[in-house]
Amino acid sequence: MVSRVIPVEAFDLVIFGGTGDLARRKILPGLFRRFCAGQMPAESRIVGAARSQMDGAKYREFVAEAIAEFGGKVASDAEKLAAFLQQLDYVPIDARGVGGWEELADKVKGRKFVRAFYFSVAPGLFGDLAERLHHYGLSDKASRIVVEKPFGRDLATAQTLNASLAEHFNEDQIYRIDHYLGKETVQNLMAVRFGNMLFEPLWNSQYVDHIQITVAETVGVGTRGEYYDKSGAMRDMVQNHLMQLLCLIAMEPPAKFEPGAVRDEKLKVIRALDPVEPHHIVRGQYLSDDEDPSYREGVNDPRSKTESYVAMKVGISNWRWAGTPFYLRTGKKLAERASEITVVFKELNHSIFDDDEGGHRNVLSIRLQPNEGITLGVTIKEPGPGGMRLIDVPLDMSFAEALGDAGGDPPDAYERLIMDVIRGNQTLFMRGDEVEAAWEWTDPIINGWTERGDVPKSYESGSDGPGDAATMLARDGRSWRAIKT
Ligand code: NAD
Repeated sequence: MVSRVIPVEAFDLVIFGGTGDLARRKILPGLFRRFCAGQMPAESRIVGAARSQMDGAKYREFVAEAIAEFGGKVASDAEKLAAFLQQLDYVPIDARGVGGWEELADKVKGRKFVRAFYFSVAPGLFGDLAERLHHYGLSDKASRIVVEKPFGRDLATAQTLNASLAEHFNEDQIYRIDHYLGKETVQNLMAVRFGNMLFEPLWNSQYVDHIQITVAETVGVGTRGEYYDKSGAMRDMVQNHLMQLLCLIAMEPPAKFEPGAVRDEKLKVIRALDPVEPHHIVRGQYLSDDEDPSYREGVNDPRSKTESYVAMKVGISNWRWAGTPFYLRTGKKLAERASEITVVFKELNHSIFDDDEGGHRNVLSIRLQPNEGITLGVTIKEPGPGGMRLIDVPLDMSFAEALGDAGGDPPDAYERLIMDVIRGNQTLFMRGDEVEAAWEWTDPIINGWTERGDVPKSYESGSDGPGDAATMLARDGRSWRAIKT
């Protein structure tokens, strides 16, 4: 099956922080892949803008190296690379000063294309960039801004950030990126729910026993220890990525797949979230193993109370979900790098098979990584003679197998989302009120830990997390899916 490439109009994209880690690993290689796929018309231009002093030629060298390292299969196409680099330019700039701004304005003003400014810099600079763009006449209707996470560290900072952007840009010009929403399987969540007759009638507390959302990493804090220790799993992962997954799995069907409708429904889910009781949360910190120091050693604070793991039971108080718990967990140094959403349906209310011991459930599992795909556990007869004993088997669909080679590397989350910015489609970006609502729910949980002096439990690196997380589900007569399958 060959994937269809939808053409986009010509654009100017300015990457503030164009020499940073994110630009090098994701944004620039992603743009090159879109170029190779025919989604970057010849008049388009990409302008790197960062603090490093270099000229266009030096920047093109930098980008060529980034693509060689992170570009994937297409990186070896020298002809295409040379053509792509022709469309690149660079301006040294200081977000807080005046240097570079006139030059940047000269480069992009007066061109008739869509203009996007990617804020791939520390969030402390977002307000400065918005203000400078306005000052230099670059905040008109043709401009869009793309802002990276973290979007605030609590409600107050998120509100301040929203206000500083809103001073110069309308909400329909602001694209808050959560790269989870750009993942193929995450978008498939909506296709599975709203494109099939099979699931939606059962998608409620009458038929669903519970839902699990797991985002597990095998890496530790690495060199980001100092930054991470001020954040923790709740701020770094739950408030944004897990919350977005929860919204997509729990929201009502929007009237149309368009930005306003989808974001309205997601917001309603966040507003219906119950406060989380302290005994419905387990926090953890990983211990050392052969490869990495312990969490506390990694962040260089033997008394750190920041969590590298969090698991929680969350309730949604609305007609669809009251009574169905959502169990969320995420952590570092776990058994496998695995992200998965699992919908566990209820047991049959009556079995007609005398020989069977019961306990069967349909389980729909949506894997985001690795090996993106969907598995549906169904109950069938155990083969052979000797009565009607039932067994549970998976109907397994790996997207890679089912869809075959879709013509090269599939677009990754960042490239998809950047193309959505160019097209002006905000469906997969977070609206300001969504982000604030998520913080409004998160803040009391984090403040509660601080007030109580809560200390995370230790857990073995390479495990499924602290034992207390398993106990929390066992109290409800349930168990987590194994992280490593
Ligand atoms: P980085 O530190 O590697 O790069 C920062 C960039 O900002 C550099 O290009 C630097 O020149 C530029 N810069 C710094 N101060 C400046 C100033 N005063 N004026 C103009 N430019 C300035 O950071 P990064 O890892 O690339 O992260 C960028 C943003 O993306 C951050 O908001 C980060 O939270 C977010 N993010 C990064 C990743 C990632 O994987 N690296 C993942 C998710 C989100």
